[in-house]
Amino acid sequence: MSSDLEEELPPHVVIFPFPAQGHMNCMLNLAHLFCLTDFHVTFVVSEFSHRLLLKNTSVPATFAAYPGFQFRSIPDGLPDDHPRSGARVADIVPAVANHMIPNFKKMMAEEDFLASPHRRPATCFVADGFHGFAADFAEENGLPLIYFRTPSASYLWAYFHVDHLIQAQEIPIKDKSMDGLVKGIPGMEGFLRRRDLPGFFRTDDVNDPLLQSLAAATRQIVRAQAVIFNTFDDLEGPIVSLMLEKLPRIFTIGPIHEQQKSRLMEKKSKASIVAGNFWAEDRSCIDWLNAQPRRSVIYVSFGSITVVTREQLMEFWHGLVNSSQRFLWVMRQDSVTGKDGDDRVPAELPEGTNEKGYFVKWAPQEEVLNHPAVGGFLTHSGWNSTLESIVAGVPMICWPYFGDQTINSRFVGEVWKIGIDIKDSCDRLIIEEAIREIMIVRKDEFLERADGMAKMAKKAVERGGSSYRNLDALIEYIKSLIT
Ligand code: UDP
Repeated sequence: MSSDLEEELPPHVVIFPFPAQGHMNCMLNLAHLFCLTDFHVTFVVSEFSHRLLLKNTSVPATFAAYPGFQFRSIPDGLPDDHPRSGARVADIVPAVANHMIPNFKKMMAEEDFLASPHRRPATCFVADGFHGFAADFAEENGLPLIYFRTPSASYLWAYFHVDHLIQAQEIPIKDKSMDGLVKGIPGMEGFLRRRDLPGFFRTDDVNDPLLQSLAAATRQIVRAQAVIFNTFDDLEGPIVSLMLEKLPRIFTIGPIHEQQKSRLMEKKSKASIVAGNFWAEDRSCIDWLNAQPRRSVIYVSFGSITVVTREQLMEFWHGLVNSSQRFLWVMRQDSVTGKDGDDRVPAELPEGTNEKGYFVKWAPQEEVLNHPAVGGFLTHSGWNSTLESIVAGVPMICWPYFGDQTINSRFVGEVWKIGIDIKDSCDRLIIEEAIREIMIVRKDEFLERADGMAKMAKKAVERGGSSYRNLDALIEYIKSLIT
């Protein structure tokens, strides 16, 4: 490549998400934002995820409009018929370590950091915060590294204190009251209970491999030149400020799905919003919602990974039916685990809902949350779902499952007060009562606060807002990395 030509070429960002639904969505949003600014982008996915994106989404069509964008797919080493979700989702972790990462390194080495006559070799590596390997890899190759931590900032902040919590004997939690306050995480002393700690902290063994591997990945975060968070200052500003002592360059650019919309509108672009769902959306639920009164439906979805037992499923169902509220329930094929490997949804469930309920296997969630008929969201408190609900101004009932969900739900219930946290209980009476509180008894109060938070979220991504400015700063920063 002649140096004249090279001078004209834009930055080339290589983005490598962890291959799970929640990570993929916001990384694709980031890729789209970079394309809108004319960066070259290589997006690395597993062959399996790539197949699902091709089959079930308009993502490849959207990116086809940007000549600087390319997908690169690499094997994850799992058999083709492995579901990579539900009860077998944990198999992804060793598959990434043993197959995807070596394949990624090989591809980068053999292809001169993905250079071509019309593309610089990678000028910046945006790695998922779960990819601890990226710090060594970037350093060894002199490649600037930006981590994108896709869960909440509060979750990372808790992880930064794992060693301290172990030393102070706050974990293991065993034999201690789950309602006792945790003292060892600055900024959260007044409200964070032991039961709100990240799910992986609930172990009897401080050497638990999952706890330790995520703690190890956290230690790598500080080695990056910068860290991106899908959050905004009015939401997690106090925690992000504390984090500046460990991470000097932080870009809070969320809610990223809304930032994408805002930028597309500003550019008057006809490009579709990127939603990288692995499963086909059942749009019949929108017709059903169209026939329901305003704010009358509780939307029930536990994301892409959570599994429930048949007993838990029945408690939710009784709680919903006894509340007498209408509900729209996403029941993935693999979302129920049963004894003896029986993971079928009990037949009486869809039959027994009368006219009050509607089931789908996968919903267009953002559209559902923004539908006027929806008045509440029974959620597992995944970070994407939480942000989507915040933007839509929909109060939440939180039933967290693992990871950052246990801490996110505490913020929803106790700090932002835009929902009710029912973690650690799966009892029909508690579920019924929480639904009544959100949908009837304290409906106006919750809606008012949720509406206030929605306004702040939207303001953050509009011109002049904090996340809008931070995205501009991130783009300038990446441009400045070209040497
Ligand atoms: N989602 C969807 N349709 C559904 C259920 C979920 O589009 O029926 C999307 C949802 O909008 C969100 C993502 O799947 O963007 C789930 O991510 P989250 O972080 O909430 O949870 P995870 O799946 O990672 O546990």
